[in-house]
Amino acid sequence: MAKITIENFRLDVFLKTVLRGAFKKYPHFNEVKRRAKREYFVQSKTGKPMRRVCFQCAGCGRYFLDVSGELAVDHRNPVGEFTTVEQLPGYILGLFCDISNLDLLCNYPDNDTRAEYQRSCHRIKSAKEAAERATKPTKKTAKKKPKPPVTCSYDFDELQKLVKAAK
Ligand SMILES: [Zn+2]
Repeated sequence: MAKITIENFRLDVFLKTVLRGAFKKYPHFNEVKRRAKREYFVQSKTGKPMRRVCFQCAGCGRYFLDVSGELAVDHRNPVGEFTTVEQLPGYILGLFCDISNLDLLCNYPDNDTRAEYQRSCHRIKSAKEAAERATKPTKKTAKKKPKPPVTCSYDFDELQKLVKAAK
């Protein structure tokens, strides 16, 4: 990602990054992982059993280690768009959703050798959602010029009203 400067700053992009980071501290995030956790034992050189932990994908049922990029906590119903200030409350509520809307899915990249046999569940789902977004006829694409990008000029009083109204 390009370095954020005052010149290229976009509040929507910035908030998305911050909120996505906060999602990893959401208690539901860890609970989804805890529920998918499976333990197994391997034998040490001395013959002693050693406990190991892996995680089961809710999509394919395969087991994965919790290393970077292998797993993703997925929103069953997508979080939704956030490019206008009106979409912020919906985005927040969509992101910090009920645990019943969250699944732990495998997420290894498409250039991983495993993807030659089976693409990871989260990549499959994300691609499907992106395709649906692209084909969905929205008011925006149907007519009118696109809205200008969200910048720092939010009316924060208006924003607070929207957040309150969404609760
Ligand atoms: Zn999977």
